[in-house]
Amino acid sequence: MSGKSIVESQFERAADLVNLDAYMRRILMSPFREVQVEVPVRMDDGRIEVFTGYRIQHNGARGPCKGGIRYHPDADHDEVLGLATIMTWKTALMDIPFGGAKGGVTVDPKKLSKLELERLTRRFTQRISIVLGPYRDVPAPDVNTNAQVMAWILDEYSSRHGYTPAAVTGKPVSLGGSLGREEATGRGIMYVMTEYARDFGIPLKGSRVVIQGFGNVGGHLARLLQGEAGAKVIAVSDVAGGIVNESGLDIPGLLAHTAARKPVSEWKAGKAIGNEQLWTIPCDWLVPAALGGVITKESNARVIDCKVVVEGANEPTTPTADLILEERGIPVIPDFLANAGGVTVSYYEWAQNLQQYRWTHEQVNRELQATITKAYTGVRDLAKQKGVTFRTAAYAIALQRVAEAERLRGN
Ligand code: NAD
Repeated sequence: MSGKSIVESQFERAADLVNLDAYMRRILMSPFREVQVEVPVRMDDGRIEVFTGYRIQHNGARGPCKGGIRYHPDADHDEVLGLATIMTWKTALMDIPFGGAKGGVTVDPKKLSKLELERLTRRFTQRISIVLGPYRDVPAPDVNTNAQVMAWILDEYSSRHGYTPAAVTGKPVSLGGSLGREEATGRGIMYVMTEYARDFGIPLKGSRVVIQGFGNVGGHLARLLQGEAGAKVIAVSDVAGGIVNESGLDIPGLLAHTAARKPVSEWKAGKAIGNEQLWTIPCDWLVPAALGGVITKESNARVIDCKVVVEGANEPTTPTADLILEERGIPVIPDFLANAGGVTVSYYEWAQNLQQYRWTHEQVNRELQATITKAYTGVRDLAKQKGVTFRTAAYAIALQRVAEAERLRGN
């Protein structure tokens, strides 16, 4: 199932709950603007290779479009559109003044040298820069892009429009990036889990956590859950396999190990496991933090053995798997609530850039906690009041906010 079909089926359920008019459903499900570009890149051996890139602006009724750029062989129109749509709901749910967008280039960046990656980024930025800008559309990092890629985008954009740090977020701190941005998604997930733990009686301290993915989201989350919340991270995985230790993994040690580009399964203090085995480990919290579409009816929805699924990745659960988890009484904290910490701190970065003013790391964390906790509380209360899942409640809140902005603008 494509990213686009996943969000469409979830959308209808929530649109029914809030009695959204047919014409408004059409506005909210259609992208505002789609740009597809061909990106010719001079390779190190002198050949020119042509890649396809996308920037899709789903909705900008509540503010400039906002969303990451990913480099991945599977990045295509439908995936990028699905992710752009989620960004609209995510920014609305957090109540930050942005709309939703996403970008992608169909490329395997592992096959490119650093110079080829830079040339690709600059050429892609040139081709889409006409639809970017601090009050139009502000990119950020996503899968396989990072602060360095954002620095190249900033440089390329600024060479045409003059120095514009607010044109992109997730930049290196020395180029106007925000303190706390890199860990923000993991930190936001921890704050949401802390609230849920208190409300539903699953104390985080000492609880068993399993995380799929040990990159930006999974790595920071594991570190924070163990270091700040006192949870026991018993298993993690990466693309090559997983590692389990029932007494709790040594996360700082494992992070140093993976920083040396070694797979988690080669970490000595634990037992190596296959990627499929990860889903069957009994735990309190199961956090998919790698890819979309990993919890499915066909593979693991019936064998997952946890108290709560927390969606760190975007769209990790297919709609049919979502229904199975619901039937089995396993609650799911949806992606656009759980992993919204990154875009929330991107908002603080954008605001700091526009004001030419710097916040402290403590201030960033404090504001993030307040914003994501407020969003969580709204979702929890509506879910209880209407007797629906957290996902449907989160959608309902977001749809109403975007629909209101559309109506006030005259639609
Ligand atoms: P990343 O590239 O830093 O890390 C991804 C991790 O997943 C790596 O450890 C990789 O080895 C692992 N992985 C890949 N394929 C796997 C597989 N088949 N099985 C197990 N592990 C696998 O990416 P990230 O930034 O951590 O993003 C992860 C997810 O979170 C994505 O869905 C992304 O869209 C979403 N997300 C990221 C952010 C952010 O701020 N980085 C914000 C919101 C959502």
